[in-house]
Amino acid sequence: MTDPKEHLIDWLRNAYAMEKQAESMLKAQASRLEHYPMLKGRIEQHLDETLSQQKLLEGCLDRLGSGPSTIKDLTARISAMGQAVGGMMVSDEVVKGGMAGYVFEHFEIASYTALIAAAKSVGDTETQRCCETILPQEVEMARWLLEHMPEVVTAYLERSAAGEEAKR
Ligand code: MG
Ligand code: FE
Repeated sequence: MTDPKEHLIDWLRNAYAMEKQAESMLKAQASRLEHYPMLKGRIEQHLDETLSQQKLLEGCLDRLGSGPSTIKDLTARISAMGQAVGGMMVSDEVVKGGMAGYVFEHFEIASYTALIAAAKSVGDTETQRCCETILPQEVEMARWLLEHMPEVVTAYLERSAAGEEAKR
């Protein structure tokens, strides 16, 4: 028998590790991009959103009594998340990076959808509210990446065909 709240805390910790991974991926992508200013700008905007998402999750974990004492656990989760996601997601090329970003946003969408359901079950309205604040930001980022994929690909192919640097 496990208290549903324990599962909620477990999944919240994973979401926190996921957002740390998001931060490092978005930072790496934004710093690499040179020839795709719109994409770079959108990534930087989502990086800001990601940092406030981390704050919201920290607040939820603190409230649930899962704060500083679990730093070691969080570090382990963050490195596990990095290994799980790293190989597949990290690319120094803009089109592959865009695809990876789209996949990652959907991982986030699934995570927050699960957390909202769990928070509702537990009756934790504050965690529910936080996750309902975050979810639309992930949905919007995924939507934006998909919408702009064709123009990124076109620009990439044109630059590459002209002998210009296209990857970043
Ligand atoms: Mg996020
Ligand atoms: Fe995101």
